Amino acid sequence: WAKADGKARWALFDPERNAHRITRQALSSTLRPAVERGEFALHYQPLVGLGDGVVRGVEALVRWRHPQFGTLAPNRFIGLAEETGAIVPLGRWVLRTACRQARAWQLARPHRPLVVSVNVAVRQVWDSDLVADVAAILAETQLPPRLLQLELTESAVMGSSGRPLQQLRALSEMGVAIAIDDFGTGYSNLAYLSRLPVSTLKLDGSFMRGFRAGEPPNPADETIVEALVQLAHRLGLTVTAECVESAEQAERLGRIGCDTGQGWFYSRPLPPDRIPELMGPP
Ligand code: C2E
Ligand code: MG
Ligand code: MG
Ligand code: MG
Repeated sequence: WAKADGKARWALFDPERNAHRITRQALSSTLRPAVERGEFALHYQPLVGLGDGVVRGVEALVRWRHPQFGTLAPNRFIGLAEETGAIVPLGRWVLRTACRQARAWQLARPHRPLVVSVNVAVRQVWDSDLVADVAAILAETQLPPRLLQLELTESAVMGSSGRPLQQLRALSEMGVAIAIDDFGTGYSNLAYLSRLPVSTLKLDGSFMRGFRAGEPPNPADETIVEALVQLAHRLGLTVTAECVESAEQAERLGRIGCDTGQGWFYSRPLPPDRIPELMGPP
């Protein structure tokens, strides 16, 4: 039982686990004040027309410039922010910052409309007045609603009845576009989604695996993506592919009829001052 004893001790004193717990705790308790202190920043990743290569929009992706831990990716803190509810003020900050930025781009290039796409967490739909927040921020920033897209996951809209569905309808009536993020990772009930005021599906990056050079091509992925694109189009939805990493993937997606692509092949997420150069002359 010496071994079991050793194990028990290890479990109690594992320094790495402890550090991890402290970090989680430190991050989780400082999220709200960090929003107030302005420690977050947005990077923007282009969404590109697969047919013509034109930048149609950009997705706003949040980063935490932590005074102690350096720049943190969203997977380090979005889950915590959802658990603690800090996602509501953080999400509001993201929305306001992205809309303000998009309005500045619009004023700089009135003839090159650029849609800004903002991720919205489940809790923002279920526990906060998202419609009032969006309406207030659009009024404050003067961004035309058609230049805003909200990205929700399937879990935020599945089984939506009552309040969440009302919120989606109100946003859509306002002229804001709704996209389903990471499509294909959840229950993926297209028949159901087509009855919601959704305009775009963002195909999850995992579908791109079978399109990747170097890996054994998975013809099933290509067949599934092609069928999904056709079905989505017949239901009046447009399709964006995530995680496009190579020219070959972009070419095959274009052939299949997918509308837009996003990924490292086009660009990494960039700070806002790098976006205008991707859009060509004003
Ligand atoms: P997402 O919305 O699916 O965003 C796409 C993620 O894929 C981004 O990661 C992006 O940097 C990454 N990506 C882009 N192109 C490629 C590629 O070609 N290959 C690969 N392997 N990855 C690529 P990021 O910025 O780390 O964000 C991760 C997730 O965090 C996002 O996934 C989104 O769910 C969440 N997130 C980011 N910003 C926000 C936000 O402001 N609010 C909320 N609620 N969630 C956010
Ligand atoms: Mg997204
Ligand atoms: Mg996504
Ligand atoms: Mg994804």
